[in-house]
Amino acid sequence: MPQPVWTFFVNALKIFQCPFTFCNSEDIFVAKIRYIYLKYQFMEDTIAKTELLNGGEFLIRDARAEDTFIPEELNEEQKMIRQMTTDFLEQEVLPKAAQIEKQVEGVVPGLLVRAGELGLLGAHMPVAYGGMELDTNTNTVISDVLGPAGSFLVAIAAHTGIGMLPILYFGTPEQKEKYLPRLISGELKASYCLTEPGSGSDALNAKSHAVLSADGKNYVLNGQKMWITNADLPISISFLLKLMATNSLVLS
Ligand SMILES: Cc1cc2nc3c(=O)[nH]c(=O)nc-3n(C[C@H](O)[C@H](O)[C@H](O)COP(=O)(O)OP(=O)(O)OC[C@H]3O[C@@H](n4cnc5c(N)ncnc54)[C@H](O)[C@@H]3O)c2cc1C
Repeated sequence: MPQPVWTFFVNALKIFQCPFTFCNSEDIFVAKIRYIYLKYQFMEDTIAKTELLNGGEFLIRDARAEDTFIPEELNEEQKMIRQMTTDFLEQEVLPKAAQIEKQVEGVVPGLLVRAGELGLLGAHMPVAYGGMELDTNTNTVISDVLGPAGSFLVAIAAHTGIGMLPILYFGTPEQKEKYLPRLISGELKASYCLTEPGSGSDALNAKSHAVLSADGKNYVLNGQKMWITNADLPISISFLLKLMATNSLVLS
């Protein structure tokens, strides 16, 4: 269903502020124009029209077959993004699979920057921070295509998921402004430090803690973390959930 014509111009303004391009070989300007046109035509269709269910509600509620999203229902925009992601996987990620698994220095950070250039790191992030604000189905398509990416999938998933989402959901306006655009571009790499030698799933049992310095300007972090994806990347930022003296969880 076509949207009102003014949405074309609103989308045009938004997209031209974004780092989203489609593939190496295509002229960025033409790709963006094409994308804006498709967004204008189809964006409304990418937003789920069905009632949203919370958590595990799907287990106890009757579900209609037509409410279940299937790949055959991908719209033109989603197909383009799937193709662009497939090109990235096949042409840039898979040829480096052995280097990725051997953790050759610079390979994963370089691919994350490349993913940022393609818009893949901000597909789920607000336009205000340089993201694409695409719907869950489109982001599922991206994750699905990157499934065979081996350890690179773990890196990009940790970056865009457990690394970035806590900032989006719980960060202060200043933290979002400061970090999200640079995480969306791939300049910064995100990691999420939860697991400790003595606690994993049982997160509230974490022993690491943050104490505000006497001048109130910095937090002093003490403790031990392990198994942190992306923590070894250069310019990695680690967002830790720290148990404070007040027993409240904070993002630092
Ligand atoms: C590839 C990979 C990447 C990772 N990246 C990160 C990362 O980026 N950041 C990070 O913080 N951690 C990371 N981890 C660590 C991972 O999150 C931990 O393994 C996880 O937190 C579980 O902790 P654990 O291994 O200590 O298991 P435990 O918490 O000891 O759990 C052991 C088993 O008991 C079950 N269990 C635990 N509690 C309960 C309960 N209350 N009721 C029933 N069953 C329970 C669990 O399901 C599990 O099967 C990563 C792990 C892997 C494999």
